[in-house]
Amino acid sequence: MRVAIVGGGWAGIAAAIALAGKAELTLFEAGRALGGRARSIGRTDARGNALDNGQHILLGAYRETLGLMWKIGVAPEAHLKRLPLRIQDASGFCLALPRLPHPFHLLWGFLTARKTGLREKLHTARWMRTLRARRFAVPPEADGSVAQWLDAAGQNGVLRRRLWEPLCLAALNTPAGYASARVFARVVQESLGNSASGAADLLLPRGRLSDLLPDPAQEWLDARGVAVRLRERIHALRPQADRWRIVGRRGAETFDRVILAVAPWHLPPLLAELPRAVFPAPPRDAEPIATLYFDYPESIALPYPLLALDGAHGGWLADRGGGLLAAVLSGHGAWERLTDEDLAVALHDDICAWFPHPVALPPYRIIREKRATFSCRPRLVRCPQTLPWRGLFVAGDHTVPDYPATLESAVRSGRNSARLCLDAHSGLACG
Ligand SMILES: Cc1cc2nc3c(=O)[nH]c(=O)nc-3n(C[C@H](O)[C@H](O)[C@H](O)COP(=O)(O)OP(=O)(O)OC[C@H]3O[C@@H](n4cnc5c(N)ncnc54)[C@H](O)[C@@H]3O)c2cc1C
Repeated sequence: MRVAIVGGGWAGIAAAIALAGKAELTLFEAGRALGGRARSIGRTDARGNALDNGQHILLGAYRETLGLMWKIGVAPEAHLKRLPLRIQDASGFCLALPRLPHPFHLLWGFLTARKTGLREKLHTARWMRTLRARRFAVPPEADGSVAQWLDAAGQNGVLRRRLWEPLCLAALNTPAGYASARVFARVVQESLGNSASGAADLLLPRGRLSDLLPDPAQEWLDARGVAVRLRERIHALRPQADRWRIVGRRGAETFDRVILAVAPWHLPPLLAELPRAVFPAPPRDAEPIATLYFDYPESIALPYPLLALDGAHGGWLADRGGGLLAAVLSGHGAWERLTDEDLAVALHDDICAWFPHPVALPPYRIIREKRATFSCRPRLVRCPQTLPWRGLFVAGDHTVPDYPATLESAVRSGRNSARLCLDAHSGLACG
């Protein structure tokens, strides 16, 4: 069976790894390397260290992603720094989960949180208990914004501003004012509400993002005879009897099955030549992310490798070692209207709150991803992984119901698309 995978992001990579040895496989990637929206780029910092297209943070709950790394011989602990969850900002707020069994780590974390009163802590601990009893479920018909959900739960104090809203923005890349409560509740369940040891841990890449999966995956696939064809954008997809003609740089080629593992906004053009069929379209609205890399003097180190910024633009700050700090701004906001220089100055001011002495604005690099992820809004219907044409499947972070756009949803969708593709009965008749 000849299978084509279009798109070499984490979803396409996961699909390829699952199918290697089970099909004659070709992976087409438009870019110069695998990795898609989670990869290292050619640009370096002032000291020559490779930069990533954006600072990525994984969670201990990313079971499929960590399993995939193991599968291709990458030991996650060698490439990821594991940190117990700690949300801390310069206002003095700090919520840290100790290494205790679930749910005592949560109880301890909430009760010892700084800059919030006992009443609010107890109220939140009770709310968490109620959520747990309901298995963190928000019924689809009751899905509204995270802001409405927090209002209804009486979460209106310090924990809302310093914990829930920043967490929502970081996890869903969508502001709480219009992010889906149902998806956020699922994220809270998988991290804070998860009884598996270390599920809420934060995992920070120690070095290049591409070393976690894309580069070793390329080697692994090469060694197994998978044709990985970089710089090959697919322009069109045409049904031909029970097979597929896919049109790229080298003309048309025929495959038995095709997995489209592209970002949601790249999917419609690929389906443009197919006979009409009705199915939920991929999400159209996107949210941006900016990553600002600051090259501070090597002596600069943060009190914890990941801190929250509490200036006008919010955001997170990761310590990449050797004085290199990465500030991340997620979702639509006023920051988008600032020039690079104004944005760097504003964030440098926020960062300086962590330094004992004034420090001059260092050299910086800014990477703005205008379409970093889909906008994770209430009642968003996901594009199905099996399309209404025989032998055509979709993978990608946007396809997993009730999950935000993350590496884990990309990997999960990729593995699932491989399973569907191997199932001879998948798909309906060609339209
Ligand atoms: C700046 C930034 C920060 C992020 N931070 C985090 C984080 O901290 N934690 C987290 O879990 N997630 C994070 N994410 C989200 C995560 O990176 C994505 O959810 C994930 O990478 C999506 O993978 P994918 O394979 O579904 O899609 P993509 O990565 O978009 O892969 C699709 C691939 O298809 C290729 N392609 C498109 N069209 C064609 C075509 N016609 N022919 C051939 N190839 C094509 C593209 O070049 C691309 O390589 C972040 C994303 C960004 C941008």
